[in-house]
Amino acid sequence: MTQTWRYPLPWQLGQWQQLQQRWQQQRFPHALLLAGEHGLGQLGFAHTLAQTILCQSVNKNTNAEQAWLACGTCQACQWVKAGSHSDYSLLQPEETGKAIKVDQVRACATFLRQTSQQGGYRVVVIEPAEAMNRAAANALLKCLEEPGAATLLMLVTYQPNSLIATIRSRCQTLKFAAPRSDIAQEWLQAQLQHDEAVTAVDAKQLLNITHHAPLAALEFARSDRLQAYQRLLDDLCELLAGTMDACTLAEKWHKDNLAFFIDCLQMCLIDLIRYTNALFLQYNQPQAIQRLLQSLGPRHNVHTLFALWQQLLDAKRLLNSATNPNTQLLLEGLLIGLLK
Ligand SMILES: [Zn+2]
Repeated sequence: MTQTWRYPLPWQLGQWQQLQQRWQQQRFPHALLLAGEHGLGQLGFAHTLAQTILCQSVNKNTNAEQAWLACGTCQACQWVKAGSHSDYSLLQPEETGKAIKVDQVRACATFLRQTSQQGGYRVVVIEPAEAMNRAAANALLKCLEEPGAATLLMLVTYQPNSLIATIRSRCQTLKFAAPRSDIAQEWLQAQLQHDEAVTAVDAKQLLNITHHAPLAALEFARSDRLQAYQRLLDDLCELLAGTMDACTLAEKWHKDNLAFFIDCLQMCLIDLIRYTNALFLQYNQPQAIQRLLQSLGPRHNVHTLFALWQQLLDAKRLLNSATNPNTQLLLEGLLIGLLK
């Protein structure tokens, strides 16, 4: 994704100012837990904070827009940008979706114990912190119990409750919540302006789809998921019109995309129920819902919709809990429910 924005983001200014004050008062924490949903920009915030801490010429201007930001040009800033600053380390799983291992955490503990090579702080960012397995978390705990001087450890977590309580209690928690909708929309619209391919997309709709997380909304708009959603709507209309059968549709979507398919189906269903009750649509444009309603024809009534809603919730539960659910069968069942 081409990045056209700067950190801290408009909805992170409160957290930024809070840290700035503590820095000025020389009461800076040695461990921070940056907690919040995906798509709010916590990793970018952590990285920017690391750069500010390491910068040799921080902007002292008290103008809120510019305050306490790295200069971007000094030697330290250049090293951070190039990913080669010897006092900064970013710890992530070796493979996406895999665990952060105990050896990685031990190496990071050693790194924090060494003296700074540039005479300032040593900074480590761990993301996502919940990816640490039990042994790794225990190794980190030792590190948190005996922090060295001039060290900063930042844990970025999207599931704070998955971390052991002793880790959470040793960090200063900084919470990140979804921004107010006007702030999120303004930011997202500004980003989408740079992107000709997605200018037709409604920012509000995108934010609803992604639980009001602006970076997730932008990623959704720029990925092929938006087109996939449109294709899914087309397929659903074909199913309802009888030009595609449930088995074919299930075959098409069950393999890689079942969780996504169920999410989309849920968004359609919510809007069908809302439309039927003359409420504003949350996720879809009215034309899409009208098309679905036309295809549903006389089968459409509130009872069917609510029955289907219940089936969807059951399917989601099964997907999350069962080790090897028969996804083809599960999806077929859902689609047949639509045709009743
Ligand atoms: Zn600098």
